[in-house]
Amino acid sequence: MENTYWNGNGKLQEDYTRLTALVPASGESDTVAGELLRACTRLAYDLYNNGMGNNTSGALNFLYNKGVINSTLQTIIEPYTLGRLYSGNYTGDALQVSIEEVVTQTVQHILDRPQLLEQANTESMFDHEDEEQHYCEECDDVADGSWGSHCQSCEDWIEDQEEINSWEENDPED
Ligand SMILES: [Zn+2]
Repeated sequence: MENTYWNGNGKLQEDYTRLTALVPASGESDTVAGELLRACTRLAYDLYNNGMGNNTSGALNFLYNKGVINSTLQTIIEPYTLGRLYSGNYTGDALQVSIEEVVTQTVQHILDRPQLLEQANTESMFDHEDEEQHYCEECDDVADGSWGSHCQSCEDWIEDQEEINSWEENDPED
């Protein structure tokens, strides 16, 4: 996928580049617009640099809670903000397209509401962060245990299989 903000040719690249001057090098932004841009940039940065390895749920939830992105985008991206790793290769899969769209919608949201450039920001996107989740190695559902574990139903299934295997070993047919 060539037309990305990361490559410097996203859909609203000129506006994005101009507006991101509002985002401080670190810490919260002084304006609401700045904090929204910080949030969408965090998602893009984590996709292209860390394969979604960080907890970026605060950035996504902040944009969703502020009405910048719709629930469809939120639903596609959410698992990757909470611990699911990106296994694609940046050729325009659903996650990459969705994150590019988040950046575009954030920029458009600000262009449509120039008052956000002045409105003082009173919160951090990190206030919106959820706890990381763990995903089952077998079925990719949410798992309760630690990293690399299985969800309860897969765990039960695996135990059943092991039990059946042990019966077969201990009770040969011939
Ligand atoms: Zn499972």
